[in-house]
Order: sequence, then C-alpha cells, then structure tokens
Amino acid sequence: MAGEPQADCLFCKIVAGDVPATVVHETETTLAFRDINPQAPTHVLVIPRAHYADAAALTDAEPTVAADVVRAAGRVAEQEGAVESGYRIVFNTGAGAGQTVFHAHAHVLAGRGLNWPPG
Ligand code: 5GP
Repeated sequence: MAGEPQADCLFCKIVAGDVPATVVHETETTLAFRDINPQAPTHVLVIPRAHYADAAALTDAEPTVAADVVRAAGRVAEQEGAVESGYRIVFNTGAGAGQTVFHAHAHVLAGRGLNWPPG
C-alpha cells in the first residue's frame, strides 16, 4: 500500500534502523543521513519516512510531507554552514535521470563549486 514500508527498499531499512546510516537530522516525517558515496564535501540525503517511489509520487500523495522534506533540506544546509555559499537540492527522478533508489529522496549538495547545467 502507498506509504507503507517495502521489504526490499534500502531506505525503508535505514528508516527502520536495520541498515546503519550517519543521521544528521530527523523529524517526525523525515530522516536525513550522509550519502555513502559523497559527490561533494556536504552530501546528505533527505527522505520521507514513508515509502513513495519518487518525489512526484510523494507530492501527489502527501504534499505536506514533500514540503517537510524540502524544509529539512534547508535545515541540513544551515547545519552544514552552506547557506551563505549556496547549496543544491536535487531529486533524481527516474532511472534515466540517475535515480537508483526508488524511495523518494532529496540530495543536499554543498561545499564545492556546483556547475550549471548539471551533468
Ligand atoms: P539516486 O541515485 O537514487 O538519486 O541516489 C541514491 C543515493 O543513495 C546515491 O547517491 C548513493 O550513493 C546512496 N546510497 C546507496 N546506498 C546507500 C547506503 O547504503 N547508505 C547511504 N547512506 N547511502 C547510500
């Protein structure tokens, strides 16, 4: 059922505490932890605790939680001291855009120059 934990989902396992992660921020509806393969000095993933395949599905089903994810991304950027220098929030959506984990997540990237357009 939409929003329910999925047994084969890595990020649901992190939410459940069955897979370890370096958690940097949490709320009732979200969890933020460091990416295992960082692409910038700050690379944190912010996820809804509930399982939705991608940001669009999350926003359709639970728009307030989608807003919670973006708000949490901003809090993480503040914690990381990235507000003044700037940061990027990325939702890879679909395999063709580089999504590899099909549990909605925002990448928060900061701490180096961030080129535009992204690759
Ligand atoms: P995507 O490619 O789906 O946009 O992002 C998935 C992210 O999850 C990747 O940046 C990848 O490095 C990260 N990742 C994959 N497995 C793990 C893990 O076990 N722990 C953590 N913390 N991050 C992971």
